[in-house]
Amino acid sequence: MVIKLMNEVNELLCILLSKKGEYVSGEELSEKFGVTRTSIWKKINNLREMGYEIESSTRLGYRILKSPDLLLPEEIKANSKPSFLANEIYYFTTTESTNDIAKKLANEGAGHGTLVLAEEQLGGKGRLGRKWVSPKGKGIWLSIILRPEILPKDASKLTLLTAVAATDAIIEKTGLAATIKWPNDILINDKKVSGVLTEMNGEMDLINYVVVGIGINVNNESFPGEIAKKATSLKIQKKEQVSRLDVLTCFLEIFEKYYDIAIKNGFEEILLRWKKLCCNLNKQVIIYSRKENFKGIAVDIDDDGALIVKKKDGEIVKVLSGDVSLR
Ligand code: ADP
Repeated sequence: MVIKLMNEVNELLCILLSKKGEYVSGEELSEKFGVTRTSIWKKINNLREMGYEIESSTRLGYRILKSPDLLLPEEIKANSKPSFLANEIYYFTTTESTNDIAKKLANEGAGHGTLVLAEEQLGGKGRLGRKWVSPKGKGIWLSIILRPEILPKDASKLTLLTAVAATDAIIEKTGLAATIKWPNDILINDKKVSGVLTEMNGEMDLINYVVVGIGINVNNESFPGEIAKKATSLKIQKKEQVSRLDVLTCFLEIFEKYYDIAIKNGFEEILLRWKKLCCNLNKQVIIYSRKENFKGIAVDIDDDGALIVKKKDGEIVKVLSGDVSLR
């Protein structure tokens, strides 16, 4: 079942956040909600239990001193410019997979730009059904429903667009040298900090919807088992806590900017930026696919977002992102 969090506590949070650290009087709040001041005080305590530091003064009222860096819709809305992405937000403390929920919502008619966020995913997914580790409160586990008026063959470019937006946001918010590994991973110091999973529902020449899923490891301190060797987080790299909300709102802003450009002018500018950020180009790569494995030099990506690999014997191969891994 899909639950949308919106109750009086959240409404109260909206009001406090809109004041940006200024006081709101208890009297004003109890009038607004039509309840007693004791009842307001109880709701304030609910917010405190969620991790909000709220100062109360009998004379002045309440004000937020510090937020707990939750990715609540109220926080995202209060910290973003008006955008098609922040209109409809579904927030879960725990879920199996935000992509699965987004697909379900899209099948039920959810609109373009709907966001699905979770503090924790129990069954987060990578490509080809691989597992994406998504521990509680440590990262950004997000899916976006898009209904783009582009051709199905261009949908994979939305993966590139998402990777570019996330890489730019990471660079802007942390100054870390993030790069993109074709087609869908973001690396810092050769370790994976983020991955993108795009799923499409459409027909031959029509997209019904695309769900773009992204995971960004923000404050993870360690990783389980095998992935410990190849995963990293912004906190591990930066050696300090990083605000998930800051990275998320920056990502949404940049995503919207690139999305508008892509719809208006095509993907050319995004592909150019992608090439600047890519760490594979002009390097040796090993392609693992169901058909064959081979080595070569990644010489370019073409207008379709496919990787162009030159084999040792000079043969040029066009590699599509669907079913390959790359090292
Ligand atoms: P690929 O590495 O081939 O691009 P995917 O994009 O499908 O793979 O991502 C899934 C893989 O990423 C998993 O098989 C696992 O090795 C790794 N992984 C899982 N969770 C995380 C995480 N939180 N951070 C970094 N890597 C992860």
